[in-house]
Amino acid sequence: MIPAPTRNLSRSNAQFRKAVKRLPLGVSSTFRYWGEERTLYVDHGKGGRIWDIDGNCYVDYRLGYGPAILGYADDRVDAAARRGMEVGGVFALSTERELIVADRVAKMVPAAELVRFSNSGTEAVMSALRLARAYTGRESYLLVEGGYHGLFDAVMWMAGMEGWDPGSNRDPEVVPYGKGIPPTVKQLAHLVPMNDLQRLEDTFRRHGDSLAAMLIEPIQGNCCAIAARRDYVQLARELCDRYGVLLIIDEVKTGFRVGRGGIQGILGVRPDITTFAKAVANGYPISLVAGREDVMRTFRYGGASHGGTYTAHAVSLAAAEECLRILDETPALETLANYGSRLMAGVSEILSARGIVHSFSGHPSMFGIFFAEAPPDNYRAWKTSDYSFYDRMAYYLHDLGIIVEPDSREPWFMCEAHGLDETCLSDTLKAVERAVDLTLQDQAEGRLTRGDADE
Ligand code: PMP
Repeated sequence: MIPAPTRNLSRSNAQFRKAVKRLPLGVSSTFRYWGEERTLYVDHGKGGRIWDIDGNCYVDYRLGYGPAILGYADDRVDAAARRGMEVGGVFALSTERELIVADRVAKMVPAAELVRFSNSGTEAVMSALRLARAYTGRESYLLVEGGYHGLFDAVMWMAGMEGWDPGSNRDPEVVPYGKGIPPTVKQLAHLVPMNDLQRLEDTFRRHGDSLAAMLIEPIQGNCCAIAARRDYVQLARELCDRYGVLLIIDEVKTGFRVGRGGIQGILGVRPDITTFAKAVANGYPISLVAGREDVMRTFRYGGASHGGTYTAHAVSLAAAEECLRILDETPALETLANYGSRLMAGVSEILSARGIVHSFSGHPSMFGIFFAEAPPDNYRAWKTSDYSFYDRMAYYLHDLGIIVEPDSREPWFMCEAHGLDETCLSDTLKAVERAVDLTLQDQAEGRLTRGDADE
Protein backbone atom coordinates (compact mmCIF):
# COMPACT_ATOMS: atom_id res chain seq x y z
CA MET A 1 0.00 0.00 0.00
CA ILE A 2 1.52 3.32 -1.09
CA PRO A 3 0.58 6.04 1.40
CA ALA A 4 -1.25 9.05 -0.05
CA PRO A 5 0.87 12.22 -0.05
CA THR A 6 -0.03 14.96 2.38
CA ARG A 7 0.28 18.69 1.89
CA ASN A 8 -0.33 21.47 4.37
CA LEU A 9 -2.87 23.92 2.94
CA SER A 10 -4.04 25.42 6.22
CA ARG A 11 -3.33 29.02 5.20
CA SER A 12 -4.90 28.59 1.75
CA ASN A 13 -7.94 27.00 3.38
CA ALA A 14 -8.23 29.84 5.91
CA GLN A 15 -7.88 32.38 3.09
CA PHE A 16 -10.60 30.58 1.16
CA ARG A 17 -13.00 30.75 4.09
CA LYS A 18 -12.43 34.52 4.37
CA ALA A 19 -12.39 35.21 0.63
CA VAL A 20 -15.58 33.35 -0.16
CA LYS A 21 -17.50 35.92 1.90
CA ARG A 22 -16.49 38.68 -0.53
CA LEU A 23 -15.56 36.93 -3.80
CA PRO A 24 -17.83 34.39 -5.54
CA LEU A 25 -16.25 30.97 -4.91
CA GLY A 26 -13.42 32.86 -3.19
CA VAL A 27 -11.63 33.48 -6.49
CA SER A 28 -11.54 35.85 -9.47
CA SER A 29 -12.08 33.25 -12.19
CA THR A 30 -14.35 30.26 -11.72
CA PHE A 31 -11.62 27.90 -12.98
CA ARG A 32 -9.39 28.85 -10.03
CA TYR A 33 -11.80 27.27 -7.60
CA TRP A 34 -10.62 23.72 -6.91
CA GLY A 35 -12.86 22.92 -3.97
CA GLU A 36 -13.03 24.24 -0.43
CA GLU A 37 -9.92 22.38 0.68
CA ARG A 38 -7.79 22.49 -2.46
CA THR A 39 -8.16 26.03 -3.77
CA LEU A 40 -4.71 27.59 -3.83
CA TYR A 41 -3.63 31.11 -3.03
CA VAL A 42 -0.29 32.00 -4.54
CA ASP A 43 2.42 33.88 -2.71
CA HIS A 44 4.70 34.32 -5.71
CA GLY A 45 6.14 32.70 -8.81
CA LYS A 46 9.68 32.64 -10.16
CA GLY A 47 10.91 30.85 -13.26
CA GLY A 48 8.97 27.63 -13.80
CA ARG A 49 7.75 27.40 -10.21
CA ILE A 50 5.13 28.92 -7.92
CA TRP A 51 4.90 29.05 -4.12
CA ASP A 52 1.57 29.03 -2.32
CA ILE A 53 0.90 30.96 0.90
CA ASP A 54 1.60 27.82 2.95
CA GLY A 55 5.11 27.75 1.49
CA ASN A 56 4.49 24.71 -0.77
CA CYS A 57 6.59 24.91 -3.93
CA TYR A 58 5.32 23.57 -7.26
CA VAL A 59 6.73 23.12 -10.74
CA ASP A 60 3.97 24.81 -12.71
CA TYR A 61 2.74 23.55 -16.09
CA ARG A 62 -0.34 25.75 -16.21
CA LEU A 63 1.72 28.91 -16.39
CA GLY A 64 -1.40 31.01 -16.03
CA TYR A 65 -2.90 29.08 -19.01
CA GLY A 66 0.13 29.86 -21.11
CA PRO A 67 1.32 33.45 -20.79
CA ALA A 68 4.52 32.87 -18.82
CA ILE A 69 6.45 31.73 -21.89
CA LEU A 70 9.82 32.63 -20.39
CA GLY A 71 8.90 31.92 -16.77
CA TYR A 72 7.43 33.93 -13.93
CA ALA A 73 9.00 37.25 -12.93
CA ASP A 74 11.46 37.17 -15.82
CA ASP A 75 14.11 39.78 -14.97
CA ARG A 76 14.49 40.98 -18.57
CA VAL A 77 10.80 41.50 -19.23
CA ASP A 78 10.11 42.95 -15.79
CA ALA A 79 12.92 45.49 -16.23
CA ALA A 80 11.35 46.53 -19.54
CA ALA A 81 7.93 46.79 -17.90
CA ARG A 82 9.41 49.12 -15.27
CA ARG A 83 10.75 51.30 -18.05
CA GLY A 84 7.25 51.25 -19.51
CA MET A 85 5.93 52.49 -16.18
CA GLU A 86 8.09 55.58 -16.51
CA VAL A 87 6.18 56.48 -19.67
CA GLY A 88 3.16 57.34 -17.57
CA GLY A 89 0.30 54.94 -18.26
CA VAL A 90 -2.33 55.41 -20.95
CA PHE A 91 -3.03 58.70 -22.67
CA ALA A 92 -5.78 57.92 -25.18
CA LEU A 93 -3.02 58.86 -27.61
CA SER A 94 -0.34 56.84 -29.35
CA THR A 95 3.28 56.17 -28.48
CA GLU A 96 6.23 55.27 -30.71
CA ARG A 97 6.62 51.82 -29.18
CA GLU A 98 3.38 50.60 -30.82
CA LEU A 99 5.07 50.61 -34.21
CA ILE A 100 8.20 48.93 -32.87
CA VAL A 101 6.12 46.04 -31.51
CA ALA A 102 3.94 45.84 -34.62
CA ASP A 103 7.07 45.69 -36.82
CA ARG A 104 8.41 42.81 -34.73
CA VAL A 105 5.10 40.95 -35.01
CA ALA A 106 5.00 41.43 -38.79
CA LYS A 107 8.58 40.18 -39.06
CA MET A 108 7.81 37.04 -37.06
CA VAL A 109 4.40 36.33 -38.62
CA PRO A 110 4.20 37.32 -42.31
CA ALA A 111 0.36 37.22 -42.38
CA ALA A 112 0.32 39.93 -39.70
CA GLU A 113 0.64 42.72 -42.25
CA LEU A 114 -1.11 45.26 -40.02
CA VAL A 115 -1.57 45.09 -36.28
CA ARG A 116 -3.98 46.47 -33.67
CA PHE A 117 -3.58 45.97 -29.91
CA SER A 118 -6.16 44.86 -27.36
CA ASN A 119 -5.94 43.73 -23.75
CA SER A 120 -7.10 40.12 -23.61
CA GLY A 121 -7.68 37.16 -25.87
CA THR A 122 -11.42 37.69 -25.61
CA GLU A 123 -11.12 41.27 -26.80
CA ALA A 124 -8.84 40.34 -29.69
CA VAL A 125 -11.15 37.60 -30.99
CA MET A 126 -14.18 39.84 -30.53
CA SER A 127 -12.47 42.49 -32.66
CA ALA A 128 -11.42 39.92 -35.25
CA LEU A 129 -14.96 38.65 -35.67
CA ARG A 130 -16.35 42.16 -35.91
CA LEU A 131 -13.70 43.02 -38.45
CA ALA A 132 -14.63 40.00 -40.56
CA ARG A 133 -18.29 40.94 -40.41
CA ALA A 134 -17.59 44.54 -41.31
CA TYR A 135 -15.34 43.52 -44.20
CA THR A 136 -17.67 40.89 -45.68
CA GLY A 137 -21.01 42.46 -44.77
CA ARG A 138 -22.12 39.03 -43.46
CA GLU A 139 -23.11 37.98 -39.96
CA SER A 140 -22.79 34.26 -39.34
CA TYR A 141 -19.59 32.37 -38.68
CA LEU A 142 -18.19 28.89 -38.32
CA LEU A 143 -16.61 27.47 -35.17
CA VAL A 144 -14.83 24.15 -34.67
CA GLU A 145 -16.09 21.85 -31.90
CA GLY A 146 -13.72 21.83 -28.92
CA GLY A 147 -12.42 25.31 -29.66
CA TYR A 148 -12.50 28.10 -27.11
CA HIS A 149 -12.27 31.70 -28.15
CA GLY A 150 -13.06 33.71 -25.05
CA LEU A 151 -15.93 34.94 -22.96
CA PHE A 152 -18.12 36.93 -25.36
CA ASP A 153 -21.54 35.60 -26.32
CA ALA A 154 -20.87 34.91 -30.01
CA VAL A 155 -18.23 32.24 -29.34
CA MET A 156 -19.66 30.62 -26.22
CA TRP A 157 -21.33 27.75 -28.08
CA MET A 158 -20.26 24.17 -27.89
CA ALA A 159 -21.30 20.68 -28.93
CA GLY A 160 -23.51 19.36 -26.15
CA MET A 161 -22.52 15.77 -25.41
CA GLU A 162 -25.25 15.20 -22.85
CA GLY A 163 -27.51 12.55 -24.29
CA TRP A 164 -25.67 12.49 -27.63
CA ASP A 165 -25.35 9.05 -29.17
CA PRO A 166 -21.93 8.63 -30.87
CA GLY A 167 -23.38 5.80 -32.96
CA SER A 168 -26.10 7.97 -34.47
CA ASN A 169 -25.78 10.12 -37.59
CA ARG A 170 -27.06 13.08 -35.65
CA ASP A 171 -24.80 15.97 -34.67
CA PRO A 172 -24.67 16.90 -31.02
CA GLU A 173 -26.91 19.80 -30.09
CA VAL A 174 -25.28 23.25 -30.07
CA VAL A 175 -25.48 24.47 -26.47
CA PRO A 176 -24.18 27.55 -24.63
CA TYR A 177 -21.14 27.28 -22.33
CA GLY A 178 -23.24 28.53 -19.46
CA LYS A 179 -26.23 30.55 -18.42
CA GLY A 180 -26.78 34.16 -19.47
CA ILE A 181 -25.98 33.67 -23.16
CA PRO A 182 -29.04 34.62 -25.24
CA PRO A 183 -30.30 31.77 -27.47
CA THR A 184 -30.87 34.29 -30.30
CA VAL A 185 -27.06 34.52 -30.73
CA LYS A 186 -26.97 30.82 -31.63
CA GLN A 187 -28.69 31.40 -34.95
CA LEU A 188 -25.49 32.90 -36.33
CA ALA A 189 -23.09 30.24 -35.04
CA HIS A 190 -22.37 27.04 -36.97
CA LEU A 191 -20.19 24.27 -35.57
CA VAL A 192 -18.19 21.61 -37.36
CA PRO A 193 -16.16 18.70 -35.99
CA MET A 194 -12.40 19.05 -36.33
CA ASN A 195 -10.61 17.09 -39.06
CA ASP A 196 -13.75 15.98 -40.90
CA LEU A 197 -13.08 17.22 -44.43
CA GLN A 198 -16.37 16.07 -45.87
CA ARG A 199 -18.39 17.82 -43.19
CA LEU A 200 -16.43 20.99 -43.73
CA GLU A 201 -17.18 20.96 -47.47
CA ASP A 202 -20.85 20.22 -46.84
CA THR A 203 -21.14 23.03 -44.32
CA PHE A 204 -19.57 25.53 -46.70
CA ARG A 205 -21.85 24.32 -49.48
CA ARG A 206 -24.89 24.95 -47.28
CA HIS A 207 -23.84 28.12 -45.46
CA GLY A 208 -20.68 29.42 -47.16
CA ASP A 209 -22.39 32.38 -48.81
CA SER A 210 -23.60 33.76 -45.49
CA LEU A 211 -20.45 33.20 -43.43
CA ALA A 212 -18.28 36.15 -42.49
CA ALA A 213 -15.55 34.01 -40.95
CA MET A 214 -14.31 30.62 -39.96
CA LEU A 215 -12.55 30.61 -36.60
CA ILE A 216 -10.09 27.86 -35.83
CA GLU A 217 -7.47 26.98 -33.21
CA PRO A 218 -5.30 24.49 -35.12
CA ILE A 219 -4.00 23.19 -31.80
CA GLN A 220 -6.98 23.29 -29.47
CA GLY A 221 -5.50 24.89 -26.39
CA ASN A 222 -8.62 24.20 -24.40
CA CYS A 223 -9.29 20.67 -25.61
CA CYS A 224 -6.37 18.38 -24.88
CA ALA A 225 -4.20 20.09 -27.53
CA ILE A 226 -6.12 18.24 -30.25
CA ALA A 227 -4.41 19.13 -33.50
CA ALA A 228 -5.91 19.98 -36.85
CA ARG A 229 -4.43 18.01 -39.71
CA ARG A 230 -2.62 20.08 -42.29
CA ASP A 231 -5.03 19.02 -45.05
CA TYR A 232 -7.98 20.12 -42.90
CA VAL A 233 -6.63 23.63 -42.42
CA GLN A 234 -5.60 23.79 -46.07
CA LEU A 235 -9.11 22.82 -47.09
CA ALA A 236 -10.49 25.47 -44.73
CA ARG A 237 -8.27 28.03 -46.49
CA GLU A 238 -9.47 26.92 -49.93
CA LEU A 239 -13.13 26.93 -48.96
CA CYS A 240 -12.83 30.36 -47.35
CA ASP A 241 -11.34 31.68 -50.60
CA ARG A 242 -14.02 30.03 -52.71
CA TYR A 243 -16.91 31.41 -50.64
CA GLY A 244 -15.46 34.82 -49.75
CA VAL A 245 -15.14 33.92 -46.05
CA LEU A 246 -12.30 35.22 -43.88
CA LEU A 247 -10.13 32.65 -42.13
CA ILE A 248 -9.35 33.66 -38.55
CA ILE A 249 -6.67 31.58 -36.87
CA ASP A 250 -6.90 32.01 -33.12
CA GLU A 251 -3.32 31.84 -31.91
CA VAL A 252 -4.07 33.17 -28.45
CA LYS A 253 -2.36 30.09 -27.02
CA THR A 254 -0.15 28.87 -29.87
CA GLY A 255 1.16 32.27 -30.95
CA PHE A 256 4.84 32.94 -30.15
CA ARG A 257 4.88 29.55 -28.42
CA VAL A 258 4.87 26.64 -30.87
CA GLY A 259 7.24 28.61 -33.10
CA ARG A 260 8.21 32.17 -33.95
CA GLY A 261 5.64 32.20 -36.73
CA GLY A 262 2.98 30.38 -34.71
CA ILE A 263 1.03 27.32 -35.75
CA GLN A 264 0.24 28.96 -39.09
CA GLY A 265 3.98 28.95 -39.84
CA ILE A 266 4.22 25.26 -39.04
CA LEU A 267 1.17 24.37 -41.12
CA GLY A 268 2.07 26.72 -43.96
CA VAL A 269 -1.41 28.27 -44.01
CA ARG A 270 -1.90 32.02 -44.25
CA PRO A 271 -5.00 33.29 -42.44
CA ASP A 272 -6.72 36.58 -43.21
CA ILE A 273 -6.78 37.53 -39.53
CA THR A 274 -4.85 36.18 -36.55
CA THR A 275 -5.40 36.77 -32.86
CA PHE A 276 -2.56 36.56 -30.32
CA ALA A 277 -2.46 37.12 -26.58
CA LYS A 278 -0.85 34.84 -24.05
CA ALA A 279 2.85 34.72 -24.86
CA VAL A 280 3.12 38.23 -26.29
CA ALA A 281 4.37 39.90 -23.11
CA ASN A 282 5.16 37.04 -20.71
CA GLY A 283 1.96 37.66 -18.77
CA TYR A 284 1.45 41.42 -18.97
CA PRO A 285 -2.04 42.02 -20.36
CA ILE A 286 -1.88 42.67 -24.07
CA SER A 287 -3.32 40.99 -27.15
CA LEU A 288 -3.18 41.50 -30.89
CA VAL A 289 -5.49 41.32 -33.83
CA ALA A 290 -3.43 41.26 -36.96
CA GLY A 291 -3.89 40.44 -40.61
CA ARG A 292 -4.22 41.25 -44.25
CA GLU A 293 -3.79 44.91 -45.04
CA ASP A 294 -7.07 45.47 -46.92
CA VAL A 295 -9.01 43.69 -44.17
CA MET A 296 -7.28 45.49 -41.31
CA ARG A 297 -7.91 48.90 -42.89
CA THR A 298 -11.60 48.28 -42.19
CA PHE A 299 -10.71 49.57 -38.72
CA ARG A 300 -11.50 53.20 -39.49
CA TYR A 301 -14.10 55.87 -38.86
CA GLY A 302 -17.28 54.55 -40.43
CA GLY A 303 -15.82 51.03 -40.55
CA ALA A 304 -15.37 48.46 -37.78
CA SER A 305 -15.07 49.96 -34.29
CA HIS A 306 -11.94 49.18 -32.34
CA GLY A 307 -10.30 50.87 -29.37
CA GLY A 308 -10.44 50.61 -25.60
CA THR A 309 -9.18 52.81 -22.80
CA TYR A 310 -6.30 50.51 -21.84
CA THR A 311 -5.32 49.49 -25.35
CA ALA A 312 -1.53 49.61 -25.91
CA HIS A 313 -0.83 50.41 -22.26
CA ALA A 314 2.77 51.56 -21.88
CA VAL A 315 3.69 48.85 -19.35
CA SER A 316 2.36 45.94 -21.41
CA LEU A 317 3.77 47.38 -24.60
CA ALA A 318 7.27 47.70 -23.16
CA ALA A 319 7.01 44.13 -21.83
CA ALA A 320 5.83 42.93 -25.26
CA GLU A 321 8.75 44.62 -27.00
CA GLU A 322 11.25 42.81 -24.79
CA CYS A 323 9.44 39.47 -24.67
CA LEU A 324 9.06 39.28 -28.46
CA ARG A 325 12.69 40.34 -28.92
CA ILE A 326 13.79 37.46 -26.70
CA LEU A 327 11.52 34.97 -28.48
CA ASP A 328 12.68 36.14 -31.88
CA GLU A 329 16.41 36.57 -31.27
CA THR A 330 17.33 33.93 -28.69
CA PRO A 331 16.82 30.15 -28.57
CA ALA A 332 14.13 30.48 -25.84
CA LEU A 333 11.50 28.65 -27.90
CA GLU A 334 13.90 25.84 -28.76
CA THR A 335 14.87 25.56 -25.09
CA LEU A 336 11.30 25.15 -23.94
CA ALA A 337 10.25 22.82 -26.76
CA ASN A 338 13.29 20.67 -26.06
CA TYR A 339 12.31 20.55 -22.41
CA GLY A 340 8.79 19.52 -23.43
CA SER A 341 10.18 16.69 -25.56
CA ARG A 342 12.31 15.44 -22.69
CA LEU A 343 9.36 15.66 -20.32
CA MET A 344 7.14 13.69 -22.71
CA ALA A 345 9.87 11.07 -23.11
CA GLY A 346 10.26 10.78 -19.33
CA VAL A 347 6.52 10.49 -18.71
CA SER A 348 6.26 7.98 -21.52
CA GLU A 349 8.99 5.83 -20.01
CA ILE A 350 7.19 5.78 -16.64
CA LEU A 351 3.86 4.85 -18.23
CA SER A 352 5.31 2.27 -20.61
CA ALA A 353 7.20 0.56 -17.79
CA ARG A 354 3.80 -0.04 -16.19
CA GLY A 355 2.14 -1.15 -19.40
CA ILE A 356 -0.11 1.92 -19.52
CA VAL A 357 -1.20 2.74 -23.05
CA HIS A 358 -0.84 6.46 -23.74
CA SER A 359 -0.21 9.09 -26.37
CA PHE A 360 0.44 12.81 -26.61
CA SER A 361 -1.25 15.49 -28.64
CA GLY A 362 -0.26 19.02 -29.63
CA HIS A 363 3.31 20.30 -29.61
CA PRO A 364 6.22 19.83 -27.18
CA SER A 365 5.66 23.40 -25.94
CA MET A 366 2.00 22.65 -25.09
CA PHE A 367 0.89 19.07 -25.05
CA GLY A 368 -1.99 16.92 -23.87
CA ILE A 369 -1.59 13.45 -22.36
CA PHE A 370 -4.08 10.87 -23.44
CA PHE A 371 -4.59 7.36 -22.11
CA ALA A 372 -5.22 5.59 -25.43
CA GLU A 373 -3.06 4.43 -28.32
CA ALA A 374 -3.72 7.54 -30.38
CA PRO A 375 -4.80 11.00 -29.30
CA PRO A 376 -8.32 12.11 -30.18
CA ASP A 377 -8.60 14.05 -33.39
CA ASN A 378 -11.77 15.85 -32.44
CA TYR A 379 -13.78 16.94 -29.43
CA ARG A 380 -16.36 14.18 -29.76
CA ALA A 381 -13.61 11.56 -29.44
CA TRP A 382 -12.17 13.24 -26.36
CA LYS A 383 -15.51 13.67 -24.72
CA THR A 384 -16.54 10.07 -25.18
CA SER A 385 -13.23 8.73 -23.86
CA ASP A 386 -12.29 7.78 -20.30
CA TYR A 387 -10.23 10.48 -18.64
CA SER A 388 -10.63 9.24 -15.06
CA PHE A 389 -6.97 8.12 -14.92
CA TYR A 390 -5.79 11.59 -15.86
CA ASP A 391 -8.11 13.25 -13.37
CA ARG A 392 -6.81 11.20 -10.47
CA MET A 393 -3.18 11.51 -11.52
CA ALA A 394 -3.54 15.31 -11.69
CA TYR A 395 -5.05 15.30 -8.21
CA TYR A 396 -2.02 13.47 -6.80
CA LEU A 397 0.42 15.62 -8.77
CA HIS A 398 -0.83 18.71 -6.93
CA ASP A 399 -0.11 17.04 -3.60
CA LEU A 400 3.34 16.09 -4.91
CA GLY A 401 4.36 19.60 -5.96
CA ILE A 402 3.41 19.66 -9.62
CA ILE A 403 0.69 21.94 -10.93
CA VAL A 404 -1.21 20.78 -13.99
CA GLU A 405 -4.80 21.60 -14.80
CA PRO A 406 -7.16 19.21 -13.02
CA ASP A 407 -9.20 19.13 -16.25
CA SER A 408 -7.52 16.97 -18.91
CA ARG A 409 -8.58 19.39 -21.63
CA GLU A 410 -5.96 21.93 -20.61
CA PRO A 411 -2.54 21.11 -22.06
CA TRP A 412 0.69 21.20 -20.08
CA PHE A 413 2.61 24.37 -20.90
CA MET A 414 6.39 24.72 -20.96
CA CYS A 415 8.44 27.86 -20.34
CA GLU A 416 12.06 28.73 -21.01
CA ALA A 417 12.84 28.66 -17.27
CA HIS A 418 11.82 24.98 -17.06
CA GLY A 419 14.48 24.20 -19.62
CA LEU A 420 17.13 26.21 -17.80
CA ASP A 421 16.58 24.51 -14.43
CA GLU A 422 17.43 20.80 -14.51
CA THR A 423 15.67 20.20 -11.19
CA CYS A 424 12.30 20.96 -12.81
CA LEU A 425 12.53 17.84 -14.93
CA SER A 426 13.83 15.52 -12.22
CA ASP A 427 11.31 16.80 -9.65
CA THR A 428 8.48 16.38 -12.15
CA LEU A 429 9.38 12.86 -13.19
CA LYS A 430 9.79 11.75 -9.59
CA ALA A 431 6.31 13.09 -8.82
CA VAL A 432 4.77 11.64 -11.98
CA GLU A 433 6.10 8.19 -11.12
CA ARG A 434 4.56 8.35 -7.65
CA ALA A 435 1.27 9.85 -8.91
CA VAL A 436 0.94 7.10 -11.53
CA ASP A 437 1.55 4.38 -8.93
CA LEU A 438 -0.99 5.92 -6.57
CA THR A 439 -3.51 6.15 -9.41
CA LEU A 440 -2.87 2.52 -10.40
CA GLN A 441 -3.46 1.53 -6.79
CA ASP A 442 -6.78 3.39 -6.77
CA GLN A 443 -7.70 1.78 -10.07
CA ALA A 444 -6.91 -1.70 -8.78
CA GLU A 445 -9.08 -1.05 -5.75
CA GLY A 446 -11.96 0.25 -7.85
CA ARG A 447 -11.63 3.84 -6.67
CA LEU A 448 -11.48 5.50 -10.09
CA THR A 449 -14.83 6.81 -11.12
CA ARG A 450 -15.35 8.32 -14.51
CA GLY A 451 -15.33 12.03 -13.84
CA ASP A 452 -16.93 14.59 -16.06
CA ALA A 453 -14.58 17.45 -16.72
CA ASP A 454 -17.50 19.75 -17.47
CA GLU A 455 -18.66 19.78 -13.90
N1 PMP B 1 -8.76 32.15 -27.52
C1 PMP B 1 -8.09 31.08 -27.06
C2 PMP B 1 -7.58 30.07 -28.04
C3 PMP B 1 -7.87 30.93 -25.70
O1 PMP B 1 -7.20 29.87 -25.25
C4 PMP B 1 -8.35 31.93 -24.81
C5 PMP B 1 -8.16 31.83 -23.31
N2 PMP B 1 -7.82 30.65 -22.78
C6 PMP B 1 -9.04 33.02 -25.35
C7 PMP B 1 -9.21 33.10 -26.70
C8 PMP B 1 -9.53 34.10 -24.44
O2 PMP B 1 -8.46 34.79 -23.90
P1 PMP B 1 -8.59 35.62 -22.54
O3 PMP B 1 -8.77 34.66 -21.43
O4 PMP B 1 -7.30 36.39 -22.46
O5 PMP B 1 -9.74 36.54 -22.70
